[in-house]
Amino acid sequence: MRDVLVVGGGIAGLSFALALRRSFGPDFAVSVIDGEFGARLPSARASALTAGSRRVLEALDIWPRIESDAQPILKMTITDSRRNDAVRPEFLHFDMPAEPGAAYAHMIHNSDLTSALEQEIVANGVDVIRGHAARIVVSDRKASVRLMDGRQIEASLLVGADGAFSRVRNALNIQTIGRDYGRSAIVATMAHDVDHEGCATQHFLPAGPFAMLPLRGRQSSIVWTERTDDAAAALRLDDSDFIEQVERRFGFSLGPLSLVDRPAAYPLRLQVSRRFIGTRTALIGDAARVIHPLAGQGLNLAFRDLAALIDCVAQPVRLGLDPGGPSCLEGYQRARLFDSVAMAAATDGLHRLFANDLGPLRLLRDMGLGLVDRAPRLKRALIREAAGLQGQIPTLMRGRLP
Ligand SMILES: Cc1cc2nc3c(=O)[nH]c(=O)nc-3n(C[C@H](O)[C@H](O)[C@H](O)COP(=O)(O)OP(=O)(O)OC[C@H]3O[C@@H](n4cnc5c(N)ncnc54)[C@H](O)[C@@H]3O)c2cc1C
Repeated sequence: MRDVLVVGGGIAGLSFALALRRSFGPDFAVSVIDGEFGARLPSARASALTAGSRRVLEALDIWPRIESDAQPILKMTITDSRRNDAVRPEFLHFDMPAEPGAAYAHMIHNSDLTSALEQEIVANGVDVIRGHAARIVVSDRKASVRLMDGRQIEASLLVGADGAFSRVRNALNIQTIGRDYGRSAIVATMAHDVDHEGCATQHFLPAGPFAMLPLRGRQSSIVWTERTDDAAAALRLDDSDFIEQVERRFGFSLGPLSLVDRPAAYPLRLQVSRRFIGTRTALIGDAARVIHPLAGQGLNLAFRDLAALIDCVAQPVRLGLDPGGPSCLEGYQRARLFDSVAMAAATDGLHRLFANDLGPLRLLRDMGLGLVDRAPRLKRALIREAAGLQGQIPTLMRGRLP
């Protein structure tokens, strides 16, 4: 029987498994199940990682492997405008780091981070089971997972890191609350002639935010939110029409744009689990909660989840006790549920506030953004909160192993 079985080897599951290995050594038996391990399809997805997440990756010795691929975000500009506005007045501008001398955040291709994690998982001898978890049964004594091919694996603690449609969460009958936004995020990598100087730009347009996020070299990642039907239509455009639509929304400040990869669209939803734990089970990452990407926080919350969970597991493990016991799991839920609900509500509130074009509401929100822009202490507090550097900070997020 394993000590911990992680279902789902996305960034959350791989990082958690590696953190367990680095913290407790090879005698602590950890397995990860994922059918996609080492065989993922190419994707244009990129993520903004905050200072707190960077520290987790430093503690795991992953950061030095990906640092040269990561682009620091040095400033951020937020505007509120309509699609065809020729000028997009700036309402909120951030150019102060979350901590002295540090970037506000770093942009990294998800594929670079995933492959660095996969390589370290293999190099550190973590047991990888290529397969798909089909049936999950938990009892006071153990958690059992049966794979599609009939293999059966048992563990003291089961961790559901299997994404938004988590089979682990469904097997434990954990309900979720939320809604479908009826919007999708179109993601693509653009090349351009002009240097972005590390500036991330987000225009709040009536259909949703349009973000241009700096990548290494003269490239940027777009995250362009549209109603799901309009997003599907945008994917059918040929390259030059697609670029024209991007230019209408973003403008020409980076010079002529070209597409580096084919765009893809991701449906957006709000989904928060009512519980993050069940018998011998904890949920982390998108299995626990999915939020609107407008604040670039989903993966950063996943890092906070796994950092909090390993802190809860560390004490029983060091005492030779059961890592899947109820007191350990309740500590994890206390640490993460409220924070997740608060972030889900904040991103949902921002989506509701900006995803409409009513004149009086525009005026009010623009006044609000203008006030925040003129309050440096409030801005610094917002940056530190978004960077995961406020409140009770788990050990990994301080850059140390527990
Ligand atoms: C357009 C967009 C932009 C985003 N930008 C940002 C950003 O800038 N910053 C940020 O912090 N977040 C961002 N996010 C959110 C972030 O991408 C997610 O929160 C994050 O990828 C979740 O990672 P995960 O490992 O929990 O889940 P996933 O990436 O979904 O991984 C789940 C894994 O589980 C495996 N799996 C599923 N079912 C099974 C099963 N039955 N058996 C075995 N394995 C299984 C899958 O193969 C997969 O590998 C963005 C999201 C979107 C849609």
